[in-house]
Amino acid sequence: MIRAAGPARRDRGLWGRSLAQEERLDAIAAMFDHDEPRVAPGRECTRCGEDRTSQFPRGRLGGWCLPCGRKQRREHRLRMAARPAEEIAAEQAARLPDGRKRCWRCRTWRSISEFAPNRRNPDGLQDRCRKCLLALRYRRVAIRAWGRGPWPCTYCGQLGREVDHVVPRAAGGTDDPENLVPCCRTCNRSKRDRPLLAWLATRPAPPPSEHLDRAIAAARRG
Ligand SMILES: [Zn+2]
Ligand SMILES: [Zn+2]
Ligand SMILES: [Zn+2]
Repeated sequence: MIRAAGPARRDRGLWGRSLAQEERLDAIAAMFDHDEPRVAPGRECTRCGEDRTSQFPRGRLGGWCLPCGRKQRREHRLRMAARPAEEIAAEQAARLPDGRKRCWRCRTWRSISEFAPNRRNPDGLQDRCRKCLLALRYRRVAIRAWGRGPWPCTYCGQLGREVDHVVPRAAGGTDDPENLVPCCRTCNRSKRDRPLLAWLATRPAPPPSEHLDRAIAAARRG
């Protein structure tokens, strides 16, 4: 059956949309028309007042733009660092009344003497203990030398993310990459500060690798 175009269809626009729908679509199209000013309500940064449509944190419009957020954090850190020493000491005493702080990395409560200073933090201390910061430094050296882990452990072949000093630092070993080999946690704990060759003699033979040859050479030299 063919329906005649009655009066009810005469106010329809293109593709059967109502005129009200057409008007709404035109308004939305005008918002994205680059000849028109592009600022839609709520797209200005509430701090600097600029149109920052493309510079808000992901998935959010309104509030502070990303450059303003960065600027604010930088200013805050500088203000913290400029505090007088007494103020930092008072803040530290208030925040850590028993003189202990929890390391952000190893999650251990340690005496505040085991944290290096960082004036930008409210308590004037680093978030990681000195031990964890050192481990981070070795890891950076290791990543530069061997790429990102996990690496096969030099002493047992299991995957590991730790770094062993072939000649222990306590025995004068350096942080030079020549003195470092990839290692798993178990072997690192087991070897501790023992000389490499004496420790290896107590264990099953490790799988052959260039790191092992390097380690044995370094142990003979050291
Ligand atoms: Zn802004
Ligand atoms: Zn730690
Ligand atoms: Zn191992």
